[in-house]
Amino acid sequence: MKVLSYPNSVLSYKCKPIAVINQQLRDLVAAMFQVMYSSNGVGLAANQVGYPLQLFVMNETGNSEKTENEYVLINPVISRRKGNQIDQEGCLSFPGVSADVNRAKSIEIESIAIDGSVQFFKWIDRQARIAQHEYDHLNGINFVDRLTESSLDEIRDDLDELQINHENDIRLGFVLSDQEIQNQIAELEKQFCE
Ligand code: ZN
Repeated sequence: MKVLSYPNSVLSYKCKPIAVINQQLRDLVAAMFQVMYSSNGVGLAANQVGYPLQLFVMNETGNSEKTENEYVLINPVISRRKGNQIDQEGCLSFPGVSADVNRAKSIEIESIAIDGSVQFFKWIDRQARIAQHEYDHLNGINFVDRLTESSLDEIRDDLDELQINHENDIRLGFVLSDQEIQNQIAELEKQFCE
């Protein structure tokens, strides 16, 4: 499993709700945490690793030993957003890129936990920001889609470089072509969403 980079088409895919929580899903979650920690991330959405599912994991400490800070959110819904806050964000799918993003200061978010129970969180500041960033991923929205025109101008060269790298990766067979990804997505949806 590896983190896919912009502009991989799976990053703009609207993820589907998960229908069953089974061992396969638990294994996926464990693998996602591993990849997140080894990439020095604090959150990871399933489509960032090629799974078109409404699922993200987070640990705002980024420390794998602090398992009490680990959260798994399946089929999340943000029911309330309050206030605004601008802060710098990066993303594992945009290596080397960061920019100021305006987010709600606090959120209320409901989801299914990995044990199948319903869970509800009220988060503020950093946790709220990470959750909104990951939630966006599941809807095919990347943090660069939320930038002001001037912030976007500042990172334009970085995005162009990622685009070139992506095209090279496809050519060299390091990542799947768009058609191959579509086939894989259809297969995974059959496994997890029906
Ligand atoms: Zn991200």
